[in-house]
Amino acid sequence: MSNSIALHTSPLGRVTLEPPDGYPIEKVFDRYGRHIHYLRISLTDACNLRCVYCMPEHMTFRPRHELMSDEELLYLVRVGASLGVNKIRLTGGEPTIRPNVVELVRAIAAVPGIEDLAMTTNAILLDKLAQPLAEAGLRRVNISIDTLNPEKFNRITRWGKFDDMWRGIRAAEAAGMTPLKLNCVVVRHFNDDDIVDLARLTLENDWEMRFIEMMPFGGVSDFQQENVVPFREMRRRVEAAFGPLEEVSYDYVDPSRPFRIPGAMGTLGFISSVTEPFCQGCGRVRLTADGKLRLCLLRDDEVDLLTPLRAGASFDEIRALMRDGAYHKPWGHSLSEGKFAHNRVMNQIGG
Ligand code: SAM
Ligand code: SF4
Repeated sequence: MSNSIALHTSPLGRVTLEPPDGYPIEKVFDRYGRHIHYLRISLTDACNLRCVYCMPEHMTFRPRHELMSDEELLYLVRVGASLGVNKIRLTGGEPTIRPNVVELVRAIAAVPGIEDLAMTTNAILLDKLAQPLAEAGLRRVNISIDTLNPEKFNRITRWGKFDDMWRGIRAAEAAGMTPLKLNCVVVRHFNDDDIVDLARLTLENDWEMRFIEMMPFGGVSDFQQENVVPFREMRRRVEAAFGPLEEVSYDYVDPSRPFRIPGAMGTLGFISSVTEPFCQGCGRVRLTADGKLRLCLLRDDEVDLLTPLRAGASFDEIRALMRDGAYHKPWGHSLSEGKFAHNRVMNQIGG
């Protein structure tokens, strides 16, 4: 591999993973004709918070040896890039708690073909990490913020401090990781009355404030289908406070539908995964922290890449597994029929 930085190597001792140079970049389409070029990588299933809609308080995380080493992860990024992956989002768990995250970002950003590298984070550690991450090649961050009320923030995250997150937002801006996107998962009877205050942030900040329909993951929390606030209801609430929203043009690829409060500097986005899914434009696949290619956030279909990699599979063999997996990406999820993914919860998939 061309980078010379110190990276964690495989716990099984396979330390030299040299992808061949000069692969022609292939474009991969799934059987429905969607161009698969966007990879979301979970750097860890662990987190420094325990958001109530994401994971139980007493969560057991995977042991280190079950997770991809830096070197394995970079190898799989190279395979992805040879199949036309040009956009990567790092997520988790909380990606910033992964040891060596800055060097890992630098190495991923240097992989030929990767044009866009972003991260979804709770921002708790961004105060210190935003600048080094930006210098390493991280272009943008999406930051979770479910309320502006510090006491409620503490309850939603189970122990997070609002001020740490807010300093992280400012640090990301100062590091030039803009336009900044903020994510709020809306949960009925919990933070649905915070939507208006969060929307107000866009009046004087050039941010995209995105409201996400909570996806119910069985067994994770007390929140279930009845706690989902549909996108149309969120929109009505915002319009009751600010008047009709202006539609902003968009590409139907980003899951977030953008709107603007008239005269606002920033925009609002609504992600209606549950009530109005956006599967037709989805060119995403995910790599879980334990090295499985997950084909749809909300379905259990996965292709194990790490086990064959550790067993000595060649670049071509891993590439074939990835290509074939992407081709068989399911059309979409069946949340509206009450069918949920069962094998993992959000922190293990990466959101
Ligand atoms: N720890 C980072 C964070 O919170 O931004 C990244 C990982 S988190 C799993 C990725 C995204 O998934 C976050 O925006 C989070 O709010 C969202 N999320 C978590 N659980 C969810 C759920 N049950 N329904 C919808 N979104 C969820
Ligand atoms: Fe951690 Fe993000 Fe899940 Fe919250 S949503 S518990 S910050 S992984």
